[in-house]
Amino acid sequence: MELRWDHILSEWIIVSGERNKRPFLPKDFCPFCPGAEEIPQNGWKVLSLPNRFSALMADPPLPDVTSRRLLYSKPSKGLCEVIIYTPHHNASLAKLSVEHIRSVIELWTLRFRELGDKDYIKYVFIFENKGRMIGVTLDHPHGLIYAFPFIPPLIKKELSSSKRYWKRNKACLFCKILETERKDKLRLICENESFICFLPFFARWPYGVHIYPKRHVQALPDLTEKEHERFALILKEVLTKFDNLFNMNFPYIMVLHQKPTDEKPYPYYHLHLEFYPPHRDKNNIKYFAGVEMGAGTVTFDYRPESKAKELRESQGNDPLPHRDLC
Ligand SMILES: [Zn+2]
Ligand SMILES: [Zn+2]
Ligand SMILES: [Zn+2]
Repeated sequence: MELRWDHILSEWIIVSGERNKRPFLPKDFCPFCPGAEEIPQNGWKVLSLPNRFSALMADPPLPDVTSRRLLYSKPSKGLCEVIIYTPHHNASLAKLSVEHIRSVIELWTLRFRELGDKDYIKYVFIFENKGRMIGVTLDHPHGLIYAFPFIPPLIKKELSSSKRYWKRNKACLFCKILETERKDKLRLICENESFICFLPFFARWPYGVHIYPKRHVQALPDLTEKEHERFALILKEVLTKFDNLFNMNFPYIMVLHQKPTDEKPYPYYHLHLEFYPPHRDKNNIKYFAGVEMGAGTVTFDYRPESKAKELRESQGNDPLPHRDLC
C-alpha cells in the first residue's frame, strides 16, 4: 500500500491492495452493533473508533514499489476512523433526535481537533456514505473520517477560488453566495438563526443542497454551543425533507468542508456541508458519465430552482415525533 502521484492531474492516489482482504461478513452479524468485538455493550450514544481496514495508517509500511521520477510514491501515512451514530442498527441520522444529532456534531468537532493536531495530518475529511446504492455494505448508521497527509484536490480548488475572491473583493466568497441565495429565495430550502440550506445556483446534483453557518467561521471548533444545536436542527430538518420527498430512506453522500489543519491561516474559507444524493427523481438515478467523468463538466437536466422547490415543500418535521431510542 502507498500513495502514488498522478503527474498529469497533480494529485495523490491512495493505493491499498490490502483492503481487499477485508473479511467477508456473515449476513446476521454487524460489527457496529453493541456487543461486537470493539463495541461496548452499553453506556454510549455516539462512538468513534479506528478503521481496522484503513487506507491510511499512522505507521504505514514502505511502498510496495520503489519510487522513480515518473513513478513516484510515498507511504500512506494518515488515519481513518469510523463514527457510529447510534447503538441502534435500524436507525438513521435523520431519525435521531436533534439532541442526539448534536452529540454526533460534537464528536465530529472533537475528532477534527484531535486528528488535526497531529503534525502529519494536513486535512481532516468527515463524511457519510449512506445507502446500498452508494455502495455501503454496512447498514448500521455510521460516518467516516479520512485524516489526510495532504490537502485533497477539491478542497484545494475551493481554497484557491475563495483566496482569489478574498484578495480582490476583501470579502468571503461563501458569505457573498449565501447572502445572494438568501435574497434570491428561489433556491432556498430552509434556514434558522445560525444556518442556511440552499440548492446552489450552480448545483451539480439534482438534490445536492449545501448547508452553511451564517457566521463566517472556518471549522467546527469555531462554532458556539448554541450554533452546534442549530446545526443539528437544520441537519435534522434537511434529512427529514430528503426522507419525506419520496417517502423512502433517502441515500446520499454527505461531506463536511472545513479549513485544512496544516496550521496555516485560512481567513478566506467558510465551513459548509455538501450533499450528493444520487436520485434525480423517485425512480431514477443521476449517473456521472462521460461528460462528468471524462471532461469534468456536470450536466444538470433540470432547473435547480424547480428541484429546490420540491425540497422546500417537502415536510421537514418528523411525521411522528421521534423519541430518542437511547
Ligand atoms: Zn448494527
Ligand atoms: Zn464567509
Ligand atoms: Zn465545498
